Amino acid sequence: MSQPNESTGGRVALVTGSTSGIGAAIARRLARDGFTVALHSRRSAAAGERLAGELAGATYTRADLASETETRQLLAQVLAKHGRLDVLVNNAGISETVPHGNLPAATPALWRRLYDVNVIAPWLLIGEAEAALRRSAEQGNSPSILNISSHAGVRPKGASIPYAVSKAALNHMTRLLAVTLAPAIRVNAIAPGLVDTPLTASWTAARDLWRERSPMRRGARPEDIADIAAMVIGSGYITGEVILADGGLNLT
Ligand code: NAD
Repeated sequence: MSQPNESTGGRVALVTGSTSGIGAAIARRLARDGFTVALHSRRSAAAGERLAGELAGATYTRADLASETETRQLLAQVLAKHGRLDVLVNNAGISETVPHGNLPAATPALWRRLYDVNVIAPWLLIGEAEAALRRSAEQGNSPSILNISSHAGVRPKGASIPYAVSKAALNHMTRLLAVTLAPAIRVNAIAPGLVDTPLTASWTAARDLWRERSPMRRGARPEDIADIAAMVIGSGYITGEVILADGGLNLT
């Protein structure tokens, strides 16, 4: 299905959770920048196939990242389809809302659900991708991993404490792996504040907060996050950074 792309030497990017929201915007942007994109989601196969049809050389693979087996298979399937990997964007993630003061509601089961998808799945995918990314480096590219975390992993905020802690773990994993995998593979994260996506469609209080308090006077559009992703992936030098993309809310 995929055709090597002349302008990028056929570089391939896997973007997890890329049939909606931030992931879809990053996938479209990387395709525009000349990458062949491997799309993925947990369920929405029809949307994935449709988007794959729009982006040159793109493929779609379904996998539940709460399952260790399916997570490992995802990487194997992408490599089987494309034969190489140059960029891994760990975008897929889940959030659950629990008032921070309601400690009993943050059950061990909820902690484990969030950790499985937001922390352990990115870890497994990075491990499965390492050899392919190192091959990309040997060919003279600057392969990289980009994790989509959250401002809630930087500041004491977020839909629930387990969500915020899972994103803080992803941020720290980013820094640790930036050291461990250097100089071959760069590892960075973007920590968005509010982004207008299906995940946040009903978060009216958050939308009001960003409109009234943030210096940029609005939440981000998925394309704003995709612009930052393109910049970080396009760099041959930046590594270990957690880029807070909250429109300046943290300053107020
Ligand atoms: P979204 O709901 O539009 O997309 C989430 C994606 O994750 C979907 O494609 C879904 O298929 C995938 N996913 C969820 N659980 C999965 C599983 N078990 N297996 C496989 N895939 C799974 O949400 P979004 O807002 O675009 O979020 C993308 C990322 O950005 C998430 O990691 C989220 O935590 C993070 N984020 C979002 C916001 C925001 O305001 N929207 C803010 C900060 C961080």
